[in-house]
Amino acid sequence: MRRNAALAFVVTLSLLAGTRALRAQAGPAPSMAPYRDATSRLIGAALADTAAWQRLAELTDTFGHRLAGSQGLEGAIVWAVAQMTRDGLDNVRAEKVMVPHWVRGRESAELVAPVRHAIVMLGLGNSVGTPKGGIEAEAVVVRSFDDLDARGARLKGKIVVFNVPFTGYGPTVQYRSSGASRAAAYGAVGMLLRSVGQPGLRTPHTGAMTYAADQPKIPAAAITNEDADRLQRIQDRGQTLVVRLSMEAQMLPDAESANVMAEIPGREHPEEVIVLGCHFDSWDVGTGATDDGGGCIASWEAVRLMKALGLRPRRTVRVVLFTNEENGLRGGLGYRDQHQAELASHVLMVETDGGVFRPLGFGFSGNDAARATVNDIASLLSIVGATKIGASGGGADIGPSVQAGSIPSMSLDVDGALYFTIHHTPADTIDKIPPEDLARCVASLAVMSYVVAELPQRLGR
Ligand SMILES: [Zn+2]
Repeated sequence: MRRNAALAFVVTLSLLAGTRALRAQAGPAPSMAPYRDATSRLIGAALADTAAWQRLAELTDTFGHRLAGSQGLEGAIVWAVAQMTRDGLDNVRAEKVMVPHWVRGRESAELVAPVRHAIVMLGLGNSVGTPKGGIEAEAVVVRSFDDLDARGARLKGKIVVFNVPFTGYGPTVQYRSSGASRAAAYGAVGMLLRSVGQPGLRTPHTGAMTYAADQPKIPAAAITNEDADRLQRIQDRGQTLVVRLSMEAQMLPDAESANVMAEIPGREHPEEVIVLGCHFDSWDVGTGATDDGGGCIASWEAVRLMKALGLRPRRTVRVVLFTNEENGLRGGLGYRDQHQAELASHVLMVETDGGVFRPLGFGFSGNDAARATVNDIASLLSIVGATKIGASGGGADIGPSVQAGSIPSMSLDVDGALYFTIHHTPADTIDKIPPEDLARCVASLAVMSYVVAELPQRLGR
């Protein structure tokens, strides 16, 4: 024991020495010396209080969810314009965009045979409803598209249940997007989906789905991991499942919405723009605190702090709260179309839509010279731990503009441990977000956008 304790002491000492050596190396890059004063002030102001968290709390407590077409979203847009004006930001405006207007209505699912059990569910966004009174049909659990194809015509008249474990958003979300039409192609009358997310506490995850033009539209809903596993076990015991599904969901005519933006106009090159983007809409469950109220408040706060500290960089920094990312992307498409003539002078677009947990750095897509520059800028963020520049960056809302204008793009990278547990669920509420993490995200966005806007040379593309 003693020898082990002595060894542990020596190991601890050398670890401490190693940490010190690392810290010494991890200071700001020498090229960042001209920006140290301003960025220290930005970081200090961001970390000084919980202003960002308080503003996010006010947004989510007051307006609740913000699905496209809802009063919550439109009320929040009016509020944001008023608050940005009160913050003293310039060129505050709401640019009109028409958005899809899907409403959920009442909905339920129940296992009716071989035993009766409620199934915890959420209809998928854009789904059609069931006929009045619901549908009742034999349900068949499948584990993959291959499994679906193998059963083929035997699925006629059945409700197909996709029980596909979450192995990452990319590989699993295809079942949510196209599962209904793939099942409808074999004559299925309904589709249930194991929620696309990490296991939670019997929490269903909604999200967008689309219908193939050449297949009948069948109702589609997500069920919890726990309920999917239960249906699987009963089927595996050789018993026949019968499920009743009832959904009032419907798509109404397009509604009017808007992208909200505000700026610090550049003092030398006001026509050159750095965009901090996020999406202001959310799903209609929970309050969209993480997806993506937090990203919006963090981006907005970054700009507000520049204003409050009297920092006016050479180029314009613009915050854009995009509308309707979740079930239409009309905000991102609308911005691209309305700002077409200006895209060539967009220097960088940053999206924050991966949560506002402890920041780690940024993903970046751009040329090597620009990458070296943003790497140097990130060295100013060692105090908040956000120094890593990842291989690629971007986001859904900025995507259309980035593509059309070949604009360098970035995304804030954060500790993602909790993100896909609460994503698109009733549990997406502000209590999951530590105020100090949100403050660090604000600091990261403020420093990155300020320095890119202040560099003597425009970031290359
Ligand atoms: Zn989002």
